[in-house]
Amino acid sequence: MNKKIKDVLHQKLQAKKSVLAGLMIIATLSSCSKNNEEIMADAQTNALQSKNVKQGKLGGQTITYEKKDGLNFFQGDIVLTDQQLTEDNSANKGGASFSRWPGGKIYYTVAGNMGSINGNKITTAVNEYNNKTNTQWIPRTNQTNYVEFIFGSSSGSDGWAHIGYQGGRQNISLDQYISVGSVIHEMGHTVGLYHEHARKDRDQYVSIQWNNIQDGQAYNFNMYNSGTDIGPFNINSVMMYWPTSYSKNGQPTIKRANNTNFTYNRTGFTTGDINTINAMYP
Ligand SMILES: [Zn+2]
Repeated sequence: MNKKIKDVLHQKLQAKKSVLAGLMIIATLSSCSKNNEEIMADAQTNALQSKNVKQGKLGGQTITYEKKDGLNFFQGDIVLTDQQLTEDNSANKGGASFSRWPGGKIYYTVAGNMGSINGNKITTAVNEYNNKTNTQWIPRTNQTNYVEFIFGSSSGSDGWAHIGYQGGRQNISLDQYISVGSVIHEMGHTVGLYHEHARKDRDQYVSIQWNNIQDGQAYNFNMYNSGTDIGPFNINSVMMYWPTSYSKNGQPTIKRANNTNFTYNRTGFTTGDINTINAMYP
């Protein structure tokens, strides 16, 4: 998921809210009811959004997630099924993954409205997986269990994916302006990877800058203790959050443990990413 763009969008939203606050003053002065209604609608939307933040169990651990468009979003771009949120830890044998794709074979289809630009990104990302990891992404013929790349939006640059092997059809959603690196990131969730910053050993390597995180978003930085950390912590992992993910002020939300900044990677796999995937799919 392209957090940087998301941050920009958030800033735009904040700017819009400032404008609305300004309008509220104007509305009060001029008794313009239309503006008041708009402001009320905005306030109601915000209240609903916060109501959509829920708690559930994942692998035996209580986690916070957001219900949006009927989907359960965990840490921004990982989609959990209702089943995953009700199973106890005995059902989760996946470690870093929820569960593995049998034989490391991942059958996929691409939605007809995806367009050739994203189609090419998918091809590039599939080749990266097929050339560098033990997972094989294979165009689906008639398999029952598969992933479909669906088109998210024509304006955004985000993506999301179901985590691990689900059985039946599952999705990876790609917006028009997503990067190839972020396609590789979303496919990492499909393979079974959670975010690197959620590892239980992360505090040895990074420092979460809680004061810079947007109100109501701190839960996205919680550790996920129920998974199994594979290999050493990898700050350049394609599965790391951006340094300014969910920043409310443009300042870093994640730094190195020694308080210096790190550079994010969305160009492709690091050796650590490949080693992790291959440990999961020997
Ligand atoms: Zn992600």
